[in-house]
Amino acid sequence: MPKSVAFIGLGNMGFPMCKNLLQGGFLVSGLDLSPAACERFRSLGGVPFETIADAVHTADYVITMLPTGKHVRQVYEGPEGVLKHARKGTVLIDCSTIDIESSRTVNTAAAGAGFDMVDAPVSGAVPAAIEGRLTFMVGGTDTAYALALPPLQAMGKNFFHVGAAGCGQAVKICNNMMSGMSMVAISEVFTLAERLGLDYQTVFDVVTKSSGNCWALQQYCPVPGPVPTSPANNEYAPGFSVAMMLKDMRLSQQAAEQVKASTPLAGAAAAIYQMVASSGYSDLDFSVVFKLLSGRLLESDTASQVDRVASQERIAS
Ligand code: NAD
Repeated sequence: MPKSVAFIGLGNMGFPMCKNLLQGGFLVSGLDLSPAACERFRSLGGVPFETIADAVHTADYVITMLPTGKHVRQVYEGPEGVLKHARKGTVLIDCSTIDIESSRTVNTAAAGAGFDMVDAPVSGAVPAAIEGRLTFMVGGTDTAYALALPPLQAMGKNFFHVGAAGCGQAVKICNNMMSGMSMVAISEVFTLAERLGLDYQTVFDVVTKSSGNCWALQQYCPVPGPVPTSPANNEYAPGFSVAMMLKDMRLSQQAAEQVKASTPLAGAAAAIYQMVASSGYSDLDFSVVFKLLSGRLLESDTASQVDRVASQERIAS
């Protein structure tokens, strides 16, 4: 008998993850506030529902892929939530990237209601979600981790059980803090190199064979040219948006504040992404930070900025 998954949050990540679950032989029911997302999901062969109760009541697994901790708490808690309507024995898996406190709060409530739950945020972004090669960083008990693995294996390639509930979020936040700072550093380097009269390709060729090399430079170079697949060659279409990176940098600073860790560089990087977002570029790829640092966010972009600020406000609301 095929196992069933109720998937909540059928957005940029959730949709391809559902596709891989269906291809992996799972029966998948879905729920999203967006009618367009539900229709797209139906076209895959998934079954969309309008209420959490209907989506989850017979599911073997519930998987959530939602924007923030507030959304995750809304979906799991309260009289209409997953914890009230899932049947006993359902395994709960939150793949969203959210703050550690919300993650632990929901996990504790799930345990109190008798459910096994893991936080299982992902790395790899949309291309890895499409190709079923996400990396999962999983927090929870040994039992919950073992129970959660089968659907994760349909969506990913690398699985790390990194500790108790909330530890998946903690590792994810550390990873993205590194990646956010790296992109600012690389963008500053190309800005300096350009003004020193060097060309991008020369700098790329040397640094990728030298001590400054890193993943963000090799895979995600913020200047056009050296890495043909990077968003810089496609007008900074995401990829991973400034809004998402800003959210993750803020999560890192919130976590650092809570445990009194000194993270001055990450604080500066968060402020730089805030500047990019405030300039109206929230929905472009985070590597567009290069345009800010190199002085390329020009007046001529003002018209499109108006649209972008409007869309940013829609996302925030
Ligand atoms: P998205 O905005 O494309 O999708 C989120 C979906 O959740 C939307 O379709 C929205 O309508 C739906 N939603 C919101 N509240 C809901 C509710 N109460 N009930 C049902 N549906 C609801 O976002 P995404 O890019 O898919 O990202 C989802 C999560 O994955 C985020 O936490 C993000 O940080 C994380 N993530 C994203 C990427 C990426 O590259 N996009 C990479 C790694 C991790």
